[in-house]
Amino acid sequence: MESKPDISKVVRQHIEMAEFFSGGLTVKTLTAEHAETAVKTTRPPCSPETIKELEELAEETRKCRKCDLGSLRTNAVPGEGNPAARIMFVGEAPGADEDAQARPFVGRAGQLLDKIIKACGLKREDVWIGNILKCRPPDNRDPRPEEIIACLPYLQRQIELINPEIIVALGAHAAKTLLDTPKAIGQLRGVFHEYVPGMGKRPIKLMATFHPAYLLRNYSDDNRRKVWEDMKKVLAELGLPVPQSAAKQ
Ligand code: URA
Repeated sequence: MESKPDISKVVRQHIEMAEFFSGGLTVKTLTAEHAETAVKTTRPPCSPETIKELEELAEETRKCRKCDLGSLRTNAVPGEGNPAARIMFVGEAPGADEDAQARPFVGRAGQLLDKIIKACGLKREDVWIGNILKCRPPDNRDPRPEEIIACLPYLQRQIELINPEIIVALGAHAAKTLLDTPKAIGQLRGVFHEYVPGMGKRPIKLMATFHPAYLLRNYSDDNRRKVWEDMKKVLAELGLPVPQSAAKQ
């Protein structure tokens, strides 16, 4: 016999997903006593050497001419955020807004990413945000293999220095590149994979999810629910509180 769907559960999940994207979810307020023992959104501050090397890497990307994009950009976009981040978000490549401002995810897709980060109970300053490519491909075309090969060492070193607990790969290009797989994003998202920083290095958990730009173009309940489910898994893995609908608190 076919089992009936639990309508109230479906409705609850829908409300929760809608609130996630509208910023309506809240994380329970911590008391001062809780705050002492609460799981932190970032790790302890990293060393001055690490910060210095991250800045040197950023400077290298600004001078980089390893591929043709170096002569087409207005600005390189090395990535930004907390060097002691527990989560690193990795996208595809800068777009026009990012190229103009030298900052990652500041256009429409970036505004949606900001919303997602906030809905997770986090601040942009808690996380690190970067891309597979540091320079904008003309007309926002897909990154070419030779561009990825030239640029990837910068990101690999940034990951090594920041050493996050979780990488969130935003979209197919980031997920396929970091996992070195031809699989589609639909197959990769929703479960944890391992990013291997190098021989003998500790693997880092990687969650792939839809790129915010894809989500903007395909803003269905189903796609939004999938991103929310992916992010809830990330929060649970880090031991961070999963934001709740005000109605549930
Ligand atoms: N899309 C990306 O993949 N990265 C950005 O920085 C902005 C848009």
